[in-house]
Amino acid sequence: MKHRVTLIPGDGVGPELAEAARIAIEATGVDIEWDVQEAGAEVMEKYGTPLPDSVLESIRRNKVALKGPITTPIGTGFRSVNVALRQELDLFACVRPCKYYPGVKSRYPETDIVIIRENTEDLYAGVEFEAGSEQAKTIRSWAPEKIREDAAISIKPISAEGTRRIVKFAFEYAKANNRRKVTAVSKANIMKYTDGLFYQVAREVAKEYEGEIEYEEVLVDAICMQLVQKPGNYDVLVMPNLYGDIVSDLGAGLVGGLGVAPGANIGDEAAVFEATHGSAPKYKGQNKVNPTALILSGMLMLRHLGEWEAAQRLEQAVAAVLAEGRHVTYDLKEDRNDPTAVGTLEMAKAIAAKMA
Ligand code: NAD
Repeated sequence: MKHRVTLIPGDGVGPELAEAARIAIEATGVDIEWDVQEAGAEVMEKYGTPLPDSVLESIRRNKVALKGPITTPIGTGFRSVNVALRQELDLFACVRPCKYYPGVKSRYPETDIVIIRENTEDLYAGVEFEAGSEQAKTIRSWAPEKIREDAAISIKPISAEGTRRIVKFAFEYAKANNRRKVTAVSKANIMKYTDGLFYQVAREVAKEYEGEIEYEEVLVDAICMQLVQKPGNYDVLVMPNLYGDIVSDLGAGLVGGLGVAPGANIGDEAAVFEATHGSAPKYKGQNKVNPTALILSGMLMLRHLGEWEAAQRLEQAVAAVLAEGRHVTYDLKEDRNDPTAVGTLEMAKAIAAKMA
């Protein structure tokens, strides 16, 4: 079956990583027609915006996109393309698998967790009031004994509907990927209404999966400690936006860092697969950075397309190249100045060759 996928090379190191990912994904033999779309800092002059409408139209049409990183221009008045894509397409679930592959430097070889972060609510909703503003004064008047007069204020919305869809997503993800347990992470002992609602709704959803998928609750501070002590105890973790942001980076650190951390942003209508890392502008055009994170994001995309067998072959090929440690980029070598390190494209070609 032929799949049509939007490919957004992005900017900075994005285009070279996108080329590498394309080589590795095509080597699986899955028939993909790439609908290449330009976005990012470098197209601003041409289109007057870093996110032309044609990009969103293409993703809405194809429903699946693979995306290279995109720089967030500072001080130009343009909002982040990455955030805009998530909002415009309502990509409410951020999926970050953190799995250890032999050959990668890590202190936690037993790690194989998937962090599912709610992408639309919480303190990220952008409802903030400057210190001294009329709104901040009004909000302070509701609890003057608890809020200092010179405080800036952020609002944390957590809804039952937003929680239900992310927790349901986590359980469905667990089922589809043969996972055994979902851990809901929150701070409900302190934020009784917002995080309390998160747990209340999560429990309701968990009941629908009783006997199929295990459910447990761990507070966010405790999960940080336990993940660096016994990551092997955890499987799928679901949490609100801010905790998800922080715990995702902790997870990437457990398995060897940004170069190997894939990700996806998924909604009901569309899914965008991208690495956790950014556009690393200082390495642009050098054919130097590690393509693993974007290639593994492509592996997640193949699973999403129902191409399970091809996804498995791609993952095995990546794992084999990492384990051999020969055709790998500088960041995966013991010594970062090791002259035997290969370039981005060469590593992708070595991965492709494993599937030949
Ligand atoms: P970054 O992830 O681009 O780079 C930080 C450092 O991590 C790099 O200098 C490099 O040493 C290392 N690194 C990153 N990716 C690597 C790879 N594939 N292989 C080897 N080493 C790698 O983070 P930053 O410098 O904070 O951000 C640069 C730009 O990217 C910013 O404009 C930021 O807004 C944007 N960004 C975009 C996304 C996205 O597209 N989703 C995500 C994060 C940051």
